Amino acid sequence: MKIRPLAQGLALAGAVATALLAAPATAQQKFVTIGTGGVTGVYYAAGGAICRLVNKDRAKHGIRCSVESTGGSVFNVNTIKAGELDLGFAQSDVQYNATKGVNQFKDGPVADLRAVFAVHPEPFTVVARKEAGITKFEDFKGKRFNVGNPGSGTRASMEELLAALGWKMSDFSLASELKADEHGPALCDGKIDGFYYGVGHPSANIQDPTTTCGAKLVPLTGPVIDKLVEAKPYYAKVTIPAGLYPNNPQATPTYGVVATVVASAKTPADTIYAVTKAVFDNFDEFKKLHPALANLKPEDMIKNGLSAPLHDGAARYYKEKGWLK
Ligand code: GLU
Repeated sequence: MKIRPLAQGLALAGAVATALLAAPATAQQKFVTIGTGGVTGVYYAAGGAICRLVNKDRAKHGIRCSVESTGGSVFNVNTIKAGELDLGFAQSDVQYNATKGVNQFKDGPVADLRAVFAVHPEPFTVVARKEAGITKFEDFKGKRFNVGNPGSGTRASMEELLAALGWKMSDFSLASELKADEHGPALCDGKIDGFYYGVGHPSANIQDPTTTCGAKLVPLTGPVIDKLVEAKPYYAKVTIPAGLYPNNPQATPTYGVVATVVASAKTPADTIYAVTKAVFDNFDEFKKLHPALANLKPEDMIKNGLSAPLHDGAARYYKEKGWLK
């Protein structure tokens, strides 16, 4: 809109409002924000990819999509619940816990939480300082370890692992709570001996410390993890491929979850329909926007890791495609 002298602007305001009301819904600008994670993680990049595809068709649906860097999964779910975010990324374990009202959500289920689609796998990734002499997770006892910032899915899953192992935070000499964007630099500066991160691969966040200071990926295996994976529907065993990162020619067995996109039941169905359509109508382009998205398949994305009910807007698109009865 052009800037007009104030009096004239005020005189026009009534006419403009009338015109807006009369205009078709698609001509109105709507804003949608997706909550992600740290800027070096995959959520931020995947959110950027989704928004890029949504914004391409802005003239048709009138939605302007933007991403926000956040503290991660638990923060995103809580902020969606509070009505301050339209959509957000959440690990499948966090989506499950929020839907059931357990663990981080023991105060009660997030009844309005809705699933939109699943995205990339997120192996729990343990990284050690090269000089720390770590070959397995148990070697971190008495060492300085980053357990993740409160509000991250990483931290939520770490707490579940420590509980299963029968460890307390005090089993580390230091249990730091740095954000994901900070743990790599802290590791290479010798401030911590290791960190844990639930993240897609490849990720700039892991690329940096493995390149800069030769950081090592550490396997996460053993009988306790076998039992944990068996007991929880949202965990699966997974291997980080050999040679994916510099100075790590070995394959790294671990376990993990899947990243999902969630929304509130209060987010309008037309908005979620437009977001869902943007991703699946442009699927080849979507997969090319980040290497962690390269192997996605629609049939997995509409069912894996989705424990909350499907959002009406997403279900409408899947039915149109014949993917859902
Ligand atoms: N899974 C992580 C979390 O919820 C975020 C990963 C990312 O930003 O890619 O804490």
